[in-house]
Amino acid sequence: MSIKHEPVELAIVGGGAAGLMAAAAARSRRLGCVVVERKARIGSKMLMTANGRCNFTKDVSAQRMLADIGEPVASFVRQALEAFPPSAIAGGFRARGLRIKRMADGRLFPSSEKAADVVHVFGDLLREGEVPLLSNCPVVGIQPVKNGFIVATRHFTLWARRVLVATGGLSFPKTGSVGDGQGFARSLGHRVEPCRAGLTGFECMAPSAARFERAAASVLVGGEAVCRYEGEVEFERWGVSGAAVYNCSRVVARRNLEGAFTLRLDTPQGAFDFQSPKMRPLKEAIVTIGGVSLGEVDPHTMQSRIVPGLYFAGEVLDIDGPTGGYNLSLAFATARLAVESISRETSYSSQKSQTPPVRRRGKGEA
Ligand SMILES: Cc1cc2nc3c(=O)[nH]c(=O)nc-3n(C[C@H](O)[C@H](O)[C@H](O)COP(=O)(O)OP(=O)(O)OC[C@H]3O[C@@H](n4cnc5c(N)ncnc54)[C@H](O)[C@@H]3O)c2cc1C
Repeated sequence: MSIKHEPVELAIVGGGAAGLMAAAAARSRRLGCVVVERKARIGSKMLMTANGRCNFTKDVSAQRMLADIGEPVASFVRQALEAFPPSAIAGGFRARGLRIKRMADGRLFPSSEKAADVVHVFGDLLREGEVPLLSNCPVVGIQPVKNGFIVATRHFTLWARRVLVATGGLSFPKTGSVGDGQGFARSLGHRVEPCRAGLTGFECMAPSAARFERAAASVLVGGEAVCRYEGEVEFERWGVSGAAVYNCSRVVARRNLEGAFTLRLDTPQGAFDFQSPKMRPLKEAIVTIGGVSLGEVDPHTMQSRIVPGLYFAGEVLDIDGPTGGYNLSLAFATARLAVESISRETSYSSQKSQTPPVRRRGKGEA
């Protein structure tokens, strides 16, 4: 047997929501890939989403989702979400046998309310497609070389024609997302926007512990409301939490309002104002705001504008959305767009190499 010495078409760094969707998309396009995951198992963060129930998308149009996400993220993710809207995300899971439950507000969960069932869909796809998966294998460096990249792990190196960095944000580091991808991006010349907490609680003296399903939270600046979200509000020992509060924290972080806003909660127990309460730390946040700067990544392909062949997807990018299935949708959609464009490019280059170039006869040639 002769042994071929060739690079893998695509190395996917990170086996979370984005990396797994990328692997699934690569498999269906017959694009050779390998998934390299830092932790012993795939999808650790997905397993803890929505308290282990996984609100994986929302039954709304891509346009509605983009409007809820807002700028500057919406313009960047538009192509990705329009190409892979929530209906297609749900359809993909349904086609793989996942039974889906729809909440009155449109949020979609597995009917079992078990996030593990969503992760199993990916596990099954990888196994059936014989997609190589290296777990317990942190990538420590990515170096461009002639004909691709050397992807260094702690124990060996891989040679890949293209690399997709899908290493997530910086929250809940025990799930494996510790900021490595932002480090790789920086070392390859990318700007990385400062990472901070999004979708988190506020520390303040809350009245006695209580949870309200129907309440509202607003952020006010100079007495004017800059946003208002209806939904769950919870008074905790350390402050306030709940979906409506989390969405307000995202607005505070995105608009740099720290120290200059009022958080107002309207609850069945009355209205409560808190002056510039402190946000809970990034390590406890649902999403990271900040990451690989969007100006240096092509939104049509997710390819780096600085290093050809390098791609990004998911929370490693400076993208985030409100609660309600938006963040997983963004991870899935950006990953799929990256693989679509890689696969288009590889089939174009293989067509080019198969078609002999047409050569005009020169004078005197037979
Ligand atoms: C408590 C909680 C609840 C949430 N609930 C929801 C929800 O219900 N709905 C929703 O839409 N979103 C939810 N989110 C957000 C959502 O989980 C994330 O936005 C999403 O998982 C991001 O996907 P990702 O693939 O970019 O990153 P991740 O899912 O974090 O995956 C990144 C992967 O990369 C791996 N990795 C990192 N560094 C390396 C390295 N050097 N080498 C190899 N592998 C590496 C990590 O181990 C990890 O497996 C929740 C988040 C949290 C924390």
